[in-house]
Amino acid sequence: MNTIIIDGKRTAERVRDKLRTAIEQLKQAGHIPGLAVVLVGENPASQVYVNSKVKACEELGIYSQKWSLPTETSQKELLELIDRLNHDDRIHGILVQSPPPPHIDEAAVVLRIDPRKDVDGFHPVNVAKLVMEDPSGFVPCTPMGCMELLKEYGIETQGKHAVIIGRSMIVGKPMAHLLMGKHANATVTVAHSRTTDLAGLCRTADILVAAVGRPGLVTAQYVKPGAVVLDVGINRVEDSTRPRGYRIVGDVDYAEVAPICRAITPVPGGVGPMTIAMLMANTVKACRAACGVG
Ligand code: NAD
Repeated sequence: MNTIIIDGKRTAERVRDKLRTAIEQLKQAGHIPGLAVVLVGENPASQVYVNSKVKACEELGIYSQKWSLPTETSQKELLELIDRLNHDDRIHGILVQSPPPPHIDEAAVVLRIDPRKDVDGFHPVNVAKLVMEDPSGFVPCTPMGCMELLKEYGIETQGKHAVIIGRSMIVGKPMAHLLMGKHANATVTVAHSRTTDLAGLCRTADILVAAVGRPGLVTAQYVKPGAVVLDVGINRVEDSTRPRGYRIVGDVDYAEVAPICRAITPVPGGVGPMTIAMLMANTVKACRAACGVG
């Protein structure tokens, strides 16, 4: 099969190009989109994510603030910072990098963010708006990026059977709502750790989304020939041939699956680059809404 390799880097660049125009228009009207990124603790992976988000802002001309707080920051101090950012007119989007240290109640932090600045789309108001298909809400960035990839590659979703493996609030659940919604019209099944005959179920999928966190879980026996496969997983596996001692792989056994499917996202370079591009898009959207532009 002539498999289409879905290029997330190129698609993210196209998203950024569109955003550059939107940001220029906002600037001409006297508005600069602003994003605050808050990191508590010293998780090395989180530091990498936070730095890439700040860098993406710089590249697009989005104003950014990076708050790196020590691990021992109290819940009260963190909530006070969020209150300040909620009232800071330069800031249109607030993101608290997950996971915070164990003494921080993440749900309380999410609740404290003004839903109009919740560019991650985790606040219950935005979750409800997603379920209600109210376009004024913010949709979590990774599933939004998956939808953008399907659109960019002209992949038909209407009437198709989509199976999503994973039911997290960040990926699986919002992905299900986007695919079953009136813009996509797919018929959706959500699988999870207690699903029986996962391989058999996945083989019924026209579109298969893997968001689990288990390297190589999805083998060829999970995939119907000609299906479209979106691999959201980001997993580190040991690799002594790499200078870092590891490499990043997805949840899909790419070598086995790619030859039998119609289209597939590689890892890295598939869904990953879309997540930050969508965060930038949500920040611009928040700015436009705050400034009453379009
Ligand atoms: P999570 O741990 O919150 O959820 C994992 C889900 O997988 C759960 O719903 C669980 O029920 C299900 N699951 C676990 N084992 C299973 C099994 N054996 N069979 C079927 N289902 C099983 O994870 P998450 O936050 O949704 O992330 C999932 C993966 O996506 C991770 O690898 C994560 O790093 C990655 N991720 C990537 C991006 C990106 O930008 N590309 C963003 C977010 C998450």
